[in-house]
Amino acid sequence: MQEWLKEILDHARSWQAAGIHWLPPSDAPPWKRRHDAEAEKPTTDSSSANRSASVSAAATTHQHWFEPSPSPTVPMSLEERRIALQTLDEQQVKTCTRCTELVRNRTQTVFGVGNLEAELCIVGEAPGADEDAQGEPFVGAAGQLLNRILEACQLKRSDVYICNVLKCRPPGNRPPLPDEVAHCRPFLERQLDVIQPKFICCLGAAAAQTILNTNLAIGKLRKKFHTYRGIAVICTYHPAYLLRNPNAKRDVWEDMKMLMAKMGRPVS
Ligand code: SF4
Repeated sequence: MQEWLKEILDHARSWQAAGIHWLPPSDAPPWKRRHDAEAEKPTTDSSSANRSASVSAAATTHQHWFEPSPSPTVPMSLEERRIALQTLDEQQVKTCTRCTELVRNRTQTVFGVGNLEAELCIVGEAPGADEDAQGEPFVGAAGQLLNRILEACQLKRSDVYICNVLKCRPPGNRPPLPDEVAHCRPFLERQLDVIQPKFICCLGAAAAQTILNTNLAIGKLRKKFHTYRGIAVICTYHPAYLLRNPNAKRDVWEDMKMLMAKMGRPVS
């Protein structure tokens, strides 16, 4: 499928997941006609301050953040990214109640952490018990293993941006349900649109299948590069799987070496 058509379909699925099932016939899309004067500022405004305000305003209402995100060809400053993500987290994610069962069981939402200008985004599945308690992704045993994998790649945790497909912990750490992924996917897409990484590493099937919009098993998706909105994507096993299946560490290391080579920082 053509890349541009896939992007349009991805956006349409995001709107559908958010409950937007139709777009009124108009020159201006609904988010343009509903928001306040601040967000009406032209996106071509070259003033950094005005762009920051526009980014902030664009994330303050339900309609706004579904606005097609800044094009990767329009770089955002660090401050613009910080404002956009903080607003998304505080005004959309923390208050989200789309997944009834998850909302009932969560301690808090778990948004994302790391370098807002990272070249590499790590995407996992969902918070576990430790993450739910601390409000940060990958802080439990699987997170410790991820830190060691990054160290082997000569990367620090603070060099990358880390997030999950789901922002709320599934009870008993069960896999995310399809409707939960559909509900939460727009938040992940928006995070990636703001960070604008050059590379994405999907840890586990849930992340890989969500990013690549496929049902293929993780074993069929690893060992090669894919593309998500022009970003190079590699898929490998989740660290939690490695804790149960240490023999798969070798496979993950092969995938990470491929990724590091593509990023121009080969490791052996
Ligand atoms: S998992 Fe995502 S979509 Fe579901 S309630 Fe939590 S934040 Fe909302």
